[in-house]
Amino acid sequence: MNKKGIMNKRLFLGILLAIAFVAPRLDAQDLKHYKKVVKALSSSKYQGRGYAKDGANKAGQYLAKEFAKAGVDEVICQPFKLDINTFPGKMAMSVDGKKQVPGKDFTMREFAPGVKGEFGLYYIDTANYDSEKIFNDLAKPENKNVFVVCDFLYSYKRGKDFQRMQGKDCAVAGFLYTWEEPLKFYKAYGEKVVGKPIIWVPYRFPKDAKTIKLDIENKFLKNYECFNVIAKVEGRRHDSCYVFTAHYDHLGNLGKKVFYAGANDNASGTATIVTLAEYYTKNKPEFDMYFIAFSGEDANLRGSEFFANNPIVPLEQIKYLFNIDMIGDNNPVQYCEVSDEGMRGYALFEKINNEKHHFKALNRGELAGNSDHYPFAVRHVPCIFFENEQGDAFKYYHTIHDNYKNAVFDSYEPVFKIVTDFVDRY
Ligand SMILES: [Zn+2]
Repeated sequence: MNKKGIMNKRLFLGILLAIAFVAPRLDAQDLKHYKKVVKALSSSKYQGRGYAKDGANKAGQYLAKEFAKAGVDEVICQPFKLDINTFPGKMAMSVDGKKQVPGKDFTMREFAPGVKGEFGLYYIDTANYDSEKIFNDLAKPENKNVFVVCDFLYSYKRGKDFQRMQGKDCAVAGFLYTWEEPLKFYKAYGEKVVGKPIIWVPYRFPKDAKTIKLDIENKFLKNYECFNVIAKVEGRRHDSCYVFTAHYDHLGNLGKKVFYAGANDNASGTATIVTLAEYYTKNKPEFDMYFIAFSGEDANLRGSEFFANNPIVPLEQIKYLFNIDMIGDNNPVQYCEVSDEGMRGYALFEKINNEKHHFKALNRGELAGNSDHYPFAVRHVPCIFFENEQGDAFKYYHTIHDNYKNAVFDSYEPVFKIVTDFVDRY
């Protein structure tokens, strides 16, 4: 090539660079793709991404494919095991002959055993609580094998008494705890099964019912294998990395027919990291990028805890970790939690937000063990947790109503933009 040719080539490169500088980045947030992934993950195919029907693992396989389709360099499935109580079978309850609807009229405590039979009821009078009288009453033959009915929060106040009722020496068959609607369902303490069933019912539960009939099956899974899905996009440098995390598991089933779709919790965050992965395959990053879809989060952070103990990249190499959990909502003030080591980065998040107004404001709360950033935060990884709280979808948290129809998509774009801006400038 002659000298003129070289000069022309330089000029050409210069023009290209100039275009690259002014042109917007290719394929930024992709709302359509995001919605598609949220919809798929919340569909009946994955049965609430729980364990007994393999919903979580099937969703994990779907995600592995989605990451591959997004064009990432590598997808790794990281298996781990957990013990978990599940309710995939019979789930029938009637009160004085009236059929109750699972998920709506009653839900189970996650550590409840199955139960079958007809039972009398013993109502706890919380306004005139008298421990001695209660245990005297419960010792009477006519109260043998009753279900105790009590305000759920009040039962905490009298924790010792309720523990005694839960014991073998007390002839109580189980508990109905009244609580606010819509009724919630959990998995966090489901690694065990207690002796007597605990069932949540709404405050509107009859104040003078005589009997309940129950036919409820549980299935305790021991050493059940599930897996984290890890996608990697290679950067130009490999000495440090950014990590985006979101849990893809949820609560699974409450009986044969009812499943907890978990569109906000956390199909929303999972879909966000899928589209972020796609974005970085098209905009090659400076540092390696990991996108980790954790399983076992609603079962008490089991997947993230496992990864933090068995990281595939040294934790010290993580420049920043972004945990995205429940952003399928619309509060313009974005809630977040930040690890001590992440506070320098938080100042940048605030700076970016003040300049670009992705959110009306950021609201930083106390660090808590409520999502997958926590096992990293306690291991001194700089990290932030985004959860959009108190918007229109938040009231459906852990209820049967957290489905695709009730998901809100407003927070996706600002979350996407604030984290990608952050990576550009940190
Ligand atoms: Zn959850």
